[in-house]
Amino acid sequence: MTIYLYENDLPENFSLLTGDLAIDTETMGLNLYRDRLCLIQISNGDGNAHLVQFKDKLYDCPNLKKLLSDPTTEKIFHFARFDLACIKYYLGIDCTPVFCTKIASRLCRTNTDRHGLRNITKELLNVDLDKQQQCSDWGDAEISKQQQVYAADDVLYLHALRKTLKDRLIRDNRLELAQSCFEFLPTRARLDIEGWIDTDIFIH
Ligand code: MN
Repeated sequence: MTIYLYENDLPENFSLLTGDLAIDTETMGLNLYRDRLCLIQISNGDGNAHLVQFKDKLYDCPNLKKLLSDPTTEKIFHFARFDLACIKYYLGIDCTPVFCTKIASRLCRTNTDRHGLRNITKELLNVDLDKQQQCSDWGDAEISKQQQVYAADDVLYLHALRKTLKDRLIRDNRLELAQSCFEFLPTRARLDIEGWIDTDIFIH
């Protein structure tokens, strides 16, 4: 595995990330407005990860935005709702079409309520992900090698998870239902940004 680390944007004429993209974000915390976006991790499933670190709150990143808003590639997330809201809020773009491994897991693994990334990676791929750096401080100017590996891990298995989950959704005749949920995700993210984060608008 190679980890590439970039500052504030991808390089000009960047061509290492073709095809569908696994994406994750690291922030200062879970409050969209208070806790700024620090890092975006991307992989195209080739075993390498590309990390864009945002320093000095600079979110003007035309090369990254171009890649993420390409409508011809699928963007794979685990709990896309949060990442989509974060990317929309800080970068001002939509990343579609989307595949969310958490929603997929909820729809085809009804035998369990363990749908965290570490749980499903262990159960479906038999890979143990290290959880240690999850609560680490992503706001430092220099992020450690350990943090980089942790951040990369969050995107390295999403393609394999998508494959396994998709097979199960097809088996259970729920792929279309999953896809409809994925299509609603940008709207769900917008509701989060615009003040309905704690409200289920579908509830009675
Ligand atoms: Mn992560």
